[in-house]
Amino acid sequence: MSLVVIFATVRRVSRWIATPALVGAMAVRIAGGGMRLGSADLVDGVLVVACVGGLALRVFPRPVPVGDAEAPPLDLGAASICLALVYAIVSFGGGLAGPFSALPLLVLAGVAALADPRWSWTVGASAAILEFALHHAAARDAQSLALRLAVVLGSGALHFVITRTEIARVRAHARSLLHDERRRQRDSARSLRLGSAPAPAGPPARSAEDARNRGSLEEIHASLVGLLNLTRRTMHLRTCALLWVDTRGTHLRLVEAATNDALQTEPIPAGAGALGAVMQLGRPVALSSLRPDYAGLPYYVAPSGVRGFAGVPVIDDGTVRGVLAADRDDATPFSAEDQETLESVALQARRLINNERVFARLERIKNDMTALFQASRALGEAMTEDQCLAALTTAAKAIVPHDLLVFTAFDAALDRHRVRHVVGDAPQGLAAAEFDDNGGLVAAAARSRVALPYRGQFDPRTQFVFTRSTSPKSMASVLVLPLVVRDKALGTLTLCAERRNAFPEAIRQLLGVLASHVSVTLANAASVRRLEEMATTDPMTGHLNKRALETEFEQRLRAAARFGRTLAVVVLDIDKFKNVNDTYGHSVGDVVIKGLGAVLGKCRRETDAIARFGGEEFVVVCEQTDGPGAFLLAERIREELQATIFPTEHGPLRVTCSLGVSSFPVDGDTRATLFERADQALYAAKHGGRNQTRTATPSDAQTDARKPAVSARRTARVAAPKPARSA
Ligand code: GH3
Ligand code: MG
Ligand code: MG
Repeated sequence: MSLVVIFATVRRVSRWIATPALVGAMAVRIAGGGMRLGSADLVDGVLVVACVGGLALRVFPRPVPVGDAEAPPLDLGAASICLALVYAIVSFGGGLAGPFSALPLLVLAGVAALADPRWSWTVGASAAILEFALHHAAARDAQSLALRLAVVLGSGALHFVITRTEIARVRAHARSLLHDERRRQRDSARSLRLGSAPAPAGPPARSAEDARNRGSLEEIHASLVGLLNLTRRTMHLRTCALLWVDTRGTHLRLVEAATNDALQTEPIPAGAGALGAVMQLGRPVALSSLRPDYAGLPYYVAPSGVRGFAGVPVIDDGTVRGVLAADRDDATPFSAEDQETLESVALQARRLINNERVFARLERIKNDMTALFQASRALGEAMTEDQCLAALTTAAKAIVPHDLLVFTAFDAALDRHRVRHVVGDAPQGLAAAEFDDNGGLVAAAARSRVALPYRGQFDPRTQFVFTRSTSPKSMASVLVLPLVVRDKALGTLTLCAERRNAFPEAIRQLLGVLASHVSVTLANAASVRRLEEMATTDPMTGHLNKRALETEFEQRLRAAARFGRTLAVVVLDIDKFKNVNDTYGHSVGDVVIKGLGAVLGKCRRETDAIARFGGEEFVVVCEQTDGPGAFLLAERIREELQATIFPTEHGPLRVTCSLGVSSFPVDGDTRATLFERADQALYAAKHGGRNQTRTATPSDAQTDARKPAVSARRTARVAAPKPARSA
C-alpha cells in the first residue's frame, strides 16, 4: 500500500470519526459534571475550540467544482457539532435549570429545516446522548429524561415533517407552473403556425425546436406590444387586443393586448359574443352605446363597462385567423375611418406574424442543413461499417427525436435481411432477427426501394416492421428508408417514435438525403473491407496469407514478451506432394491443399492464427501455448489429415504431413529464430521418415542428432526468403 493511499484512508476515517468523537467527548464532560462556569478547565476549553474549529471547517468547505450537485447548507457533521456546542452553552448556563435549557429545541428545529433529511435520525441520536448527559449531571430521574426527550425530539420531528411537506408542496407547485407555461407557449406557437409538426400528442418533441419557437414568440410579442400600444394611445382606446384562433378553430386565445384591465388568458369559444360575430361574418363589426353590464366581450374577465367596440378579422390565406378587438369608454360609434385604421393595424399584425413564421422556417431549415452537413462530414470520415453506423446514429438524433433506430443489412444472394444495429427501445429478439421477404415493411422497402409506410401512416394492426414477433407495438410513428446504391438495396434504416406524426414530410425528405449519404458510405466501407480481406487472406483456403501472418506473428510475439506468456509455432508440409500432383493431377492436388486447410480450421483454437505459407506448407501460431502443448495440437492435425479420405478418379487418396514445432521463449525470442527452429524440426521429421511431429526443444534427441546437417540446408532455405518474411 502506498503512502498516499494510507494518508487518504487515515484522512477519510478521521473525517468520519471526528464528529462522533467530539459529540461523545462533550457528552462525557457534561455527564461528569464538567462544562460549568465556575469549574471550567483546560479540557473544556480545548473541546469548545475543537467544536468551533470543526464547525468552521464544515460550514466553509473548499469550493465545489462547477457542475457538482449543490450540497445542503448543513451536513451531518456540522449539524452534530452545532448541537454539541449548544449543549455546552446549556451546561455553562447552569444545565437544565439554567436560562438556556430551551436552546436545543430551537437548534433542532433549524437542523430539521436545513440539514440533509437522510441524516436527521443521526442528529436526533446525538441530541438524545447529550440530553442524557445533561440529566446525568443534574441527577434527574429517568421519567424526567423521557419527558424532555419527547419534547426535544418531538419538536424536531414536527419541524422536520412540516418543513419537508412545505418544500415538497412548493416544488410541486413550481413544476406545475413550469409545465403550464411550456404548454401555453407550445399551443401559442402552434396556433401561430410557427412549428413544423402539427400538434404532436404525447411527450414534448424537439427541445431545440421549442427554444426556437420561444425566440419567435418573444419577437412577435415584443413587436405586437408596440403596435397595440400605439393604436390604443392614438385612438384613445381602453383596450386594444389581438386574439388568435387555435389549430382546431374552436377557440380564440389572447396573443397580446394593450390595456390596464384584467383580460381572459384562458381559451375563449370562437363563437362567443362580439368576437364570434367577427369570426363568423369575416368582416369588421362595430357596436356602440353598449350597456355598462354588456357581457358580449368575452376577452374581459368581468363586464368592463365599455360603451363602444370594434372588431376586425385578421385574414390569412382566405381564412379568418384571429380578431383585432378595440373598445373604449366613449359611447360614440367607431367611425369608418377608425375601422379603416384598425383594419390596417390588423394587416400589420398579420404581416408581423407571417414574417416571424418565415424566419422560424428559415431557422429550422438552417438547423436541418447544419445537422446534414455535420452528418455528411462524419460519414465522409467513416471507413468502417461501425464508424458509419455511429455517424448515422448521431445524425438521426440531431435531425429528429426518435425512440428506436434499426439498421438491417440485406444479402441479395440469399435474399435475407439481418438486423445489424439497434439503438433504443427494442422489442425482445430484434437485435438478432433475420428474415426473408416476409411481407414486412423492411422487406417491402428494400424490394421496392421506396420509403415506407406510404405517407407515414403506420397501422400496427395490419402492418409489421421487421418480423411479426419483433414488430415494435408501442410505436405510433414508423419510417423505413431503403439504403440503395446503383439501384442495389444494401439494407434499410428504420426509425420509430412513440408519439404520433413524428416524421412529417419535411423530416422524411431530410432523412432520405441522410439515407443516400449512408448508403454510399456503407458501400465504400464494404469495398474497403473486401480489399483488406483480399490483401490478407489466401483465396484457396480462406486462411491468412504469408504477409498477414508475419504481421500477426510479430504482434503476438511482442505481446507474449511484454506479458511474460508463452507462444508456439507449428510449421507443416504435406509429404511427397509432388507425387500427388504427378499421379492425380494438379486439380486433385488443389483439393488436397483445401482439405488440409479445412483440417486446420477444425483443429484450431479460437485464438490460433493459421496461414498458408505457400504451396502445401502451412503455419499455425498459438498464443499462450508451450512446446508440449503445441506438439499435442500438431499431432491432432497430423492424425486428422491422415484419417481424411480424398475421393479421386483413381480411387480414394490419403495423404500425410510432417510437422515442426518451436516455442517462445525456450527456442528463441525473435520471429526469424522461431521460424528457423520450427523449420529445422520439420526437416528432422521429414528426414526421420515423414508423417510425424518433431519439436525444436534441445532435449529432443532426434532433432539434436541431425541438427548440424539439417541446419545447413534448412537454414539456407529459411535464410533466403528472410527479407520477405521480415518485411
Ligand atoms: P516432401 O515430403 O519432402 O515435402 O516432398 P514434396 O514432394 O511434398 O516436396 P515439396 O514440399 O518441396 O513439394 C512441393 C510441391 O507442391 C511442388 C509443387 O508442384 C506443389 N505445389 C505448390 N503449390 C501448389 C498448388 O497450389 N497446387 C498444387 N496442386 N500443387 C502445388
Ligand atoms: Mg511437401
Ligand atoms: Mg513443400
